[in-house]
Amino acid sequence: MNKPVELQMDQYNTDALLYITNRPPLVFTEGHGMWLTDHHGKRYLDWLQGWAVNCLGHSPQCIQDALVVQAKKVINPSPAFYNEPSIQLATLLTQHSCFDKVFFANSGAEANEGAIKLARKWGKLNKNAAGDNRYEIITFNHSFHGRTLATMSASGKAGWDTMFAPQVPGFPKAELNDLASVEALITDKTVAVMLEPVQGEGGVIPATREFMQGLRALTRKHGILLIVDEVQAGMGRTGKLFAYQLSDIEPDIMTLGKGIGGGVPLAALLCTEACAVFEPGDQGGTYNGNPLMTAVGVAVLEELLKPGFLQSVLDKGAYLREGLLKLSEKHGLEGERGEGLLRALKLGSPIGGKIVEIARDLEPQGLLLNSPRPDLLRFMPALNITLGEIDLMLEMLSGVISTLHH
Ligand SMILES: *Cc1c(COP(=O)(O)O)cnc(C)c1O
Repeated sequence: MNKPVELQMDQYNTDALLYITNRPPLVFTEGHGMWLTDHHGKRYLDWLQGWAVNCLGHSPQCIQDALVVQAKKVINPSPAFYNEPSIQLATLLTQHSCFDKVFFANSGAEANEGAIKLARKWGKLNKNAAGDNRYEIITFNHSFHGRTLATMSASGKAGWDTMFAPQVPGFPKAELNDLASVEALITDKTVAVMLEPVQGEGGVIPATREFMQGLRALTRKHGILLIVDEVQAGMGRTGKLFAYQLSDIEPDIMTLGKGIGGGVPLAALLCTEACAVFEPGDQGGTYNGNPLMTAVGVAVLEELLKPGFLQSVLDKGAYLREGLLKLSEKHGLEGERGEGLLRALKLGSPIGGKIVEIARDLEPQGLLLNSPRPDLLRFMPALNITLGEIDLMLEMLSGVISTLHH
């Protein structure tokens, strides 16, 4: 590792970047495993991991190798032709899930757009009392499905209904873990129910097993599709390869993103044979299924499928849960929730932003945390994190909370 060059912030022309969020005055120049290094050479224990993206940590060897090997073979023959890594990855995904078909995309939002289009097409083909005028997809308050117009409309984020109005119509909102609220919205126009098995951006709120099973029965009864958005909760994050497996149900459509590429832009739309209704011209995209990204997908999935890997996620999730509960008790907080290595600490007061800042500025080593809501911290480490790195985070966080209480 070369010693990072000392640079002042004003040597970077950050003004050239469109202003879309408040970023700290740091430029990250290296990342390995659970650690990131900034332009001053300061190291940070990274509990964001690109927002649950780097499931094997920063720059793991298997991704470096997959990129180099594939880049030397072929990078993009065009989506109009077959390529080996995309066939291999689709085969692996169908072998290890209840789905039969895979379409690759470049982001979670794009995969979800595909799911919405697929469900609407399926509705057109499966006429009922509403004829082929069927397009409504029931989604949930506090859900997050992406930042395109349709996925923003599908999302249940407060304020998003008026931002960039008019919305894409057809996404009535129900309440998570309230089956009656879903049933009340079902009409002849309904084609599907779409949800995150664990609401991620909404604050790490798991759908209960009873709710997932109830939804499956309800959607079957009404002849509509069940779509799971596993962009955040899929790919081993919950200790199961896919979060729907926690509830022993089989959805009709699933979307994947984030962890599937381990850090590179890759996402997927999966469906059963029965709703694989796209015809040529319905769906596509310039970079979709390109071998450079899907080769990485194969390398990542092979790691997750190694014997004992998913069990280790469950074990570390339980270890983190214990640690968070102890910390909560010590500081008089309100406990924790989550599945596997997607967890949240309930702070009980709006101190999340302050904690994130103080933790980042700790010396000599910083700690990167995420607060999706002011009274909540979200934890989404690399799935191959060590127990020592969990202990270190808990120790650093405890110190930060103590300073706040003084
Ligand atoms: C992050 C996320 C998305 C959007 O994925 P992008 O790759 O940012 O488009 C969609 N759904 C869920 C559940 C997510 O967590």
